[in-house]
Amino acid sequence: PERENSRGWDLTAVDALAEFDAGRNAFRNAKWRSEPILATEEPAEGAEVIPVTSPANPSDVVGEVMMSSKTDVENAIALARRWQAPASDRGAALRRAAELFEEHAHEFFALTAREAGKTPKDAVAELREAVDFLRYYAARGEELKDPARGTFACISPWNFPLAIFTGQVAAALAAGNAVLAKPAESTPLTAALGVRLLHEAGVPRDALQLLPGAGRVVGAAITSDPRIAGVCFTGSTETAIGIDRAMAANMDPTAPLIAETGGLNAMIVDSTALPEQAVRDIVNSAFQSAGQRCSALRMLYLQEDIAEHFLEMLKGATEEMQVGDPWSHATDVGPVIDGRAEKGIREHVEKARAEGRLLWQLETPSKGHYIGPALIRLNGIEELEREVFGPVLHVATFKAGEIDGVIDAVNATGYGLTFGLHTRIDDRVEHVTRRVKVGNLYVNRNQIGAIVGSQPFGGEGLSGTGPKAGGPRYVARFTEPMRIASLP
Ligand code: GLU
Repeated sequence: PERENSRGWDLTAVDALAEFDAGRNAFRNAKWRSEPILATEEPAEGAEVIPVTSPANPSDVVGEVMMSSKTDVENAIALARRWQAPASDRGAALRRAAELFEEHAHEFFALTAREAGKTPKDAVAELREAVDFLRYYAARGEELKDPARGTFACISPWNFPLAIFTGQVAAALAAGNAVLAKPAESTPLTAALGVRLLHEAGVPRDALQLLPGAGRVVGAAITSDPRIAGVCFTGSTETAIGIDRAMAANMDPTAPLIAETGGLNAMIVDSTALPEQAVRDIVNSAFQSAGQRCSALRMLYLQEDIAEHFLEMLKGATEEMQVGDPWSHATDVGPVIDGRAEKGIREHVEKARAEGRLLWQLETPSKGHYIGPALIRLNGIEELEREVFGPVLHVATFKAGEIDGVIDAVNATGYGLTFGLHTRIDDRVEHVTRRVKVGNLYVNRNQIGAIVGSQPFGGEGLSGTGPKAGGPRYVARFTEPMRIASLP
């Protein structure tokens, strides 16, 4: 459908950069606060308040979060009311929120850099996507006739603390639901700013409440309460399966779970690919956002005849990358989200090193949760035990004539999120498209950064339930399909 995407912020022109820096520097030492934002009640007294620190520098205290208590969650569920306004009014408020988000761009750039380790490029992409979701879902909501379902629980991830948070909330609201938003534990501050702006734009407080806090308190309660009409979740496949079970045991059997989960994403590069282009796309797909995208490339398959030359080029291109402070314009790869993530990824790389399979890894700064981009050799994707959510790429080779075996091995993982193909053989594109089981297939380009409205995003199998985010069918899933028939 017709759409208008955010123009974004130019980071290439000197004047634009100066403005970006001046705006963002005002928030270099700012402190933010997140707390339960309820329709009328104040948050319960005596709740735990904890500092939020930066993954780039644990001594940078970005703000504090008051964790939601059981009482806050109970109050929020009881106070939630569907957004009864006509669809055009809801759309207008969401569009107004898009404007407010853009007006607060510099604050978001600073906040997402400090709270989530977003580089300038990632911070800009994140805000653009949030704004796009607001406008796109506002328009889709206006086209729908079916009624809202009731109260939706929206549980969002830390890797897109603004974009995915906003997308879930905007879709549920555009359809006229009430929302209980539970942001990721590591990024409650960005979510709180988003909610304040949505309220300022005209979203009623009883239609949108914020419940920052622990998964085992907030998440567990809102995914197993019969008063909840549906759950929208982005995060790990394991958590999604747990939510599915809790919902099945406690909720109306028709309550939908809309889940976007993990992936073991592969790319095939055959001997006809353009090496310079493929190398650039591999580096972007695997290492941008420090590999912390569920769409990121994890498993590269190179045709044997070109592998040696290719791996040399890939190493050279990766060595050009700067790993470090996400505040700096020179940085390509920022930190991973926290100490736990860092430890898990490090263990994976160290195991490969001990087994003689680590081909190389870049150096990193010592302070902060940094992982140097790394390349690990495997025989195939079946050796990849889990999704390693960081800047770690795995590589295997295949012989001409073995492509079907590669695709079958990728399909056999059960995941099906993104898949990349670099080839100049048209028939091969056709063939791979038919055989691979995947939600988003990218040909001769990178495999991250789906654009709202033009590249609906979401996977198959263990990678998600659909419908695709940023696609024409997404908002409809938040409504109750109603058909009225009568005899003449
Ligand atoms: N939509 C994002 C992309 O296309 C990924 C979303 C995610 O990581 O959950 O890169």
